[in-house]
Amino acid sequence: MFVNTFQFFSSAQSSKRLAAMAITFACASSAFSQEYLNGIKWTAPAIITPGARDSDAPSDAVKLFDGKDLSQWKNADTWVVKDGVAICGKAQITTKEEFGDCQLHVEWSAPTPAVGSGQGRCNSGIFMMGRYELQVLDSFDNLTYFDGQAGAIYKQTPPMANAMRKPGEWNTYDIFWTGPRFKEDGSLESPAYITAVHNGVLILNHFQLLGDTPFNRPPQYKAHSPKGPISIQDHGNPVRFRNIWIREIANAKGVQEREPFLRSGDKETPIAKNPK
Ligand code: MG
Repeated sequence: MFVNTFQFFSSAQSSKRLAAMAITFACASSAFSQEYLNGIKWTAPAIITPGARDSDAPSDAVKLFDGKDLSQWKNADTWVVKDGVAICGKAQITTKEEFGDCQLHVEWSAPTPAVGSGQGRCNSGIFMMGRYELQVLDSFDNLTYFDGQAGAIYKQTPPMANAMRKPGEWNTYDIFWTGPRFKEDGSLESPAYITAVHNGVLILNHFQLLGDTPFNRPPQYKAHSPKGPISIQDHGNPVRFRNIWIREIANAKGVQEREPFLRSGDKETPIAKNPK
C-alpha cells in the first residue's frame, strides 16, 4: 500500500509536495487509523537556491565580501584587497547595512609563519551588531586564556572545542545569531543567543550572552535597535578574510486556525487540554 501509493503520486506528478502528501496519505490510511493535525496554517517556506558548495552564498544572501572589494564596509581605507583576500588594516571595519537575526559565514586565515603569542597572534574578531565579539585568534598551538581563544565569546565563554587549522590554512565560521530584545523602557526582554560552527565543528550551542564583550568591564546589555552592523576588529595583526556572506533569518510563519485535533476517517476529535 505504502509503496504503491508513493510510486503512483511520484510518477504522475514530479512535484515534491505531492510526493510528500502521498506519504502522509499512505501512512495515515494504512499504517495508522488516526492522524494528528496541529491546526496551524503554515506560510510556504521561501525557496532558496543553495550555493554549489555549502560555503558558497545561497541565493538570498548579502555578499559582504566576495573577493573583489570592500564596498559593503565603512572605514576600510587601510585594508588591502589582494588576490581575492581582504587583509586587516589599521581600523575596525563595519558593514554599511544593518542586520537582525542572521546566519553569517566568514572565512579567515592566520598569518604564516605565526608571529606573536597569546592574544597577540592573529587577533581579530567578528562583532555581531557591532557589540558582541566572537573571537578570531590563531589558537593552533597558542595558549591564552580560554574565554579569549578562537571561537570564544570574549570574556564570557570558551568554545566547546578548539577546531583551529594551522596558520596559513583557511578557517570557516558559520554563525547563527539571535539578537537581544529590549522593552520600551530599555530593559532587557530577552538576551542574545549564538550558535557557531568552526570548520564544521559545533563550538557554541545556543549560548546565552551575558551582554556585550569589552576588555575592561563586565558584560552588560544596553538597549539598541533590533538591527545592527557586522564589524571586524583590527587588533594590529594582518589577519586575512574571504568569502563573507550573511542572510537574515526568521522563524517559520503560521496561523493557528483551529485547535489541534485528531482525524480518523471523517471523524475529527479535539485534543483535550491538560489530559490526565
Ligand atoms: Mg579579538
